[in-house]
Amino acid sequence: MSATVIDGKAFAAKVRGQVGEHVTRLKAEHDLTPGLAVVLVGEDPASQVYVRSKGKMTVEVGMKSVEHKLDVDTSEADLLAVIDGLNNDPTIHGILVQLPLPEHLNEDLVINAIDPAKDVDGFHISNVGLLGTGQKSMVPCTPLGCLMMLRDHHGSLSGMDAVVIGRSNIVGKPMAQLLLGDSCTVTIAHSRTKDLADVVRRADIVVAAVGRPEMVPGDWIKAGATVIDVGINRLDAPERGAGKTRLVGDVDYESCAAVAGAITPVPGGVGPMTIACLLANTLTACCRANGLAEPEGLTA
Ligand code: NDP
Repeated sequence: MSATVIDGKAFAAKVRGQVGEHVTRLKAEHDLTPGLAVVLVGEDPASQVYVRSKGKMTVEVGMKSVEHKLDVDTSEADLLAVIDGLNNDPTIHGILVQLPLPEHLNEDLVINAIDPAKDVDGFHISNVGLLGTGQKSMVPCTPLGCLMMLRDHHGSLSGMDAVVIGRSNIVGKPMAQLLLGDSCTVTIAHSRTKDLADVVRRADIVVAAVGRPEMVPGDWIKAGATVIDVGINRLDAPERGAGKTRLVGDVDYESCAAVAGAITPVPGGVGPMTIACLLANTLTACCRANGLAEPEGLTA
């Protein structure tokens, strides 16, 4: 194996440390505590795990953490009332509605009810438009985490050929916008892309956000390219015991690491950066709301 392993777990711990230092300064110098509210509707076990770890890490960096756990059959009107209350609460700077929502709730309507200045997931249509036009916005956490790791590894990304595999609103499209913002030449590939292997072989940077286990083999990767694996896929692992599972990404790690210059592992790559960036976004939102300078290196 020749690639440098980009350690997302260590990098995320560093980012959380930087956020924590800023929070300490905000408290001391401005008597301000950034606040993050997470709204969970229903009892999806994976969502409950995410919400718990978000709350724990929010408290660890010294922020205020608020959780609203609503019944699975909560009406749209009741959910919108909770969001309205948080929009108008000056102690809350970031609001995250955990997705997916139960089917009877309209996700677009709910997300667009969040005050865009508090939309720390960066999914509000205003933030999507601001990012697309290169203006200051709240940036979706997962692509922001990928960008931070790429900048940390390469310094400038200017002029590099980047291929993003996947065109979802939460990962692929904002990732492409961010890479474009850093002056990469960007290609977005998707399920209808012709000769995906050939497209990926041109890339200095490959970001895989597909949701298909180990789909990208090493012989698609240009020698020395940087591979960012966003995918989180759970596979059965009977070799580890009955009912056991293991996580794999969207790239075939062993074969890609043999040719890439750098690669993120799964687990321990992009995943930990997502919550770190949620905390960074909450800090940024708090600074903006109070007319203070934004934390350097923690925004796009
Ligand atoms: P989506 O299902 O919303 O999007 C997947 C994209 O992959 C689509 O654009 C689809 O194309 C494309 N695609 C599917 N099959 C192929 C194929 N054979 N060839 C090329 N492109 C293909 O997924 P998300 O963007 O939400 O998530 C992607 C992965 O990232 C998942 O594994 C998810 O679990 C993970 N993830 C990880 C996060 C983290 O914190 N690390 C956060 C968010 C997601 P088309 O549009 O044509 O259908």
